[in-house]
Amino acid sequence: MSKGNLIVISGPSGAGKSTVVNKAMSFRDDICFSTSVTTRAPRPGEKDGVDYFFIDQKRFEEMVAGNELLEHAVYVSNSYGTPRKFVEDRLSEGMNVILDIEIQGASQVHKNKPEAVMVFIVPPSIDELRKRLTGRGTETEAAIEARIQRAIQECREADFYDYIIINDDLDKAAEEMSSIINAELCRFDKRRDILNSFGK
Ligand code: ADP
Ligand code: 5GP
Repeated sequence: MSKGNLIVISGPSGAGKSTVVNKAMSFRDDICFSTSVTTRAPRPGEKDGVDYFFIDQKRFEEMVAGNELLEHAVYVSNSYGTPRKFVEDRLSEGMNVILDIEIQGASQVHKNKPEAVMVFIVPPSIDELRKRLTGRGTETEAAIEARIQRAIQECREADFYDYIIINDDLDKAAEEMSSIINAELCRFDKRRDILNSFGK
């Protein structure tokens, strides 16, 4: 079986990354989501092991020291990281694995796994981003401001991504996500074996 694609999704907090990924997963069964570890406190409604594995700083540092994380970064005062084993196991089973991670971690993945597909999701405007963050109701006014400042900075540093999805209409954004996965599955290198089999 051929290996699945590693798909890295980044973009401003509140751009709609989780929403778009969940929508795409609702109509495709060949995509799975890598649940990260974080030292951030759970938001109301978030479940341990589903949205994140919520761990303390000590356990986080143990995971870093034990090389258990594929990448890790600090984002607005909290640590986040991607457990390595889950990702490697699913990729070897042929699944397309999605990482929803910020730009410093994405840059580490891009360097260590150059085959990873890099996707940046943005809202149609900063005003819309502010509306979505306020509407989500999960952050204080100060935290929203910190995330918006970080968003502006991330957009300046996003040159190394392969694709941009503008999340204006949710259905269209999820379709674009799905189209990117399809295009990557059709890559010459991924399908080269069929050409060899024709010569036999
Ligand atoms: P992220 O994962 O990028 O931080 P979320 O998926 O949590 O963002 O989305 C932020 C907020 O914006 C949520 O309240 C979500 O329902 C809303 N949202 C997501 N996509 C759209 C869209 N296309 N149009 C309007 N609201 C959206
Ligand atoms: P939130 O606190 O809103 O859930 O996430 C904040 C930021 O952390 C988002 O940009 C999200 O993509 C990013 N993030 C979530 N998990 C990880 C991870 O495992 N590694 C890195 N580097 N960033 C992550």
